[in-house]
Amino acid sequence: MKRHHGPSGREFNPETLALGLGYEPELSQGALKPPVFLTSTFQFTDAASGARFFELAYGLDEARKGEVPGLIYSRLNNPNLQMFEERIAAWDRTELGAVFASGMAAISTTLMALTSSGDHIISTAPVYGGTHFLLENVLPRFGIKASQVLGGTGAAQRLEQEAERVGPERVRMLFVETPANPSNALTDIAEVAELAQRLSARTGRRVLVAVDNTFLGPVFQRPAQCGADIVLYSATKFIGGHSDLVAGVATGPRDLMAEVMVLRTILGTMATPFTGWMLLRSLETVSIRMRRQAKNAQALAELLDAHPQVTKVHYPGLLQPEDPQHDIYSRQCTGPGSLIAFEVKGGKEAAWRVLDSFEVFRLAVSLGGTESLVEHPMSMTHADVPPEQLEDLGVQPGLIRMSAGIEHLSDLKRDLLHALQV
Ligand code: PLP
Repeated sequence: MKRHHGPSGREFNPETLALGLGYEPELSQGALKPPVFLTSTFQFTDAASGARFFELAYGLDEARKGEVPGLIYSRLNNPNLQMFEERIAAWDRTELGAVFASGMAAISTTLMALTSSGDHIISTAPVYGGTHFLLENVLPRFGIKASQVLGGTGAAQRLEQEAERVGPERVRMLFVETPANPSNALTDIAEVAELAQRLSARTGRRVLVAVDNTFLGPVFQRPAQCGADIVLYSATKFIGGHSDLVAGVATGPRDLMAEVMVLRTILGTMATPFTGWMLLRSLETVSIRMRRQAKNAQALAELLDAHPQVTKVHYPGLLQPEDPQHDIYSRQCTGPGSLIAFEVKGGKEAAWRVLDSFEVFRLAVSLGGTESLVEHPMSMTHADVPPEQLEDLGVQPGLIRMSAGIEHLSDLKRDLLHALQV
């Protein structure tokens, strides 16, 4: 399947494109599925075509209509990576995708590619711990400053106040992670994109919006359609989906992605061909997996909500229409996802007892895989957050984070009820 649309001109859906876009079997002995292109380098047919490939790769010339940039070296391009990149960009409805060795490789390469010394990034809080460390400890060493405001309802207003405080002319990027981890608080991407436009108009300098879409994308949230410039992922999570690989993704418009690709080539933060192949395989089922996981999660969240041992459940699928978060949810999400945070009575001791009593749910960090996982944010994923910030982020001693998998729902329910009784 070479193109995004069929003979009638109708655009194919991403689920269909995930089974063929970018792959031509006749170039691989007719193999129905793409082989793993385990090669570091590619042989040119003649010197002129090799030279032309470099002209295009180094941006020395524009591709002619219909001209496809050739394969050179697997740090620059590789068929397994390129096929996946086309397919994930189709999911996000963006022009280009880039695949990386990890989510952190995607985030750090993208942020470094799109900012310069003297720039300021304002992010919502909380963000993933690695992103927080990058913003607080790594980027400042290169002259890029960062500050954070609380995400959730009203985040755009808080971002605006912070932009005024630091000086709008210095703000280069608004970085949003939504839903937030572990509170599931939703930030309105369209409102943040409108703010970026207002700031850009005032200062004459493009202010970018980057969204970490790991929790709901690519199936339940399309930040680019809400006005985001760059969409980022830990593909280790739902996109990979089987807890057996580490990878990351950035997607966005051609001009910005060209800068990201240059830095990926220079830093060498791309994924390997084998990871690219695994991701191609995973992307075929991402919609089925995420929908099944969300279905399980909705039922588990309802069970938790009605359980006497549980004091609070944070899950987008339980939002009530009068809650302002529900408005954001209806505007930008097409499904609630499969991450639930819930508080049990009795604080940390009770939470640990519950965690130690599961049989089907596994006690592990990470999320988005086929198997259900549980963890204790305060002592595990969020152990390095200063205690005074934990309450703002919704991290209480009795809080447990759950990532629902694809197991049979009755086994999950039984396991959960058993663990809560102990
Ligand atoms: N973004 C989010 C929301 C995450 O949860 C994670 C990892 O847990 C990352 C980024 C980093 O991804 P990786 O572990 O693939 O580097």
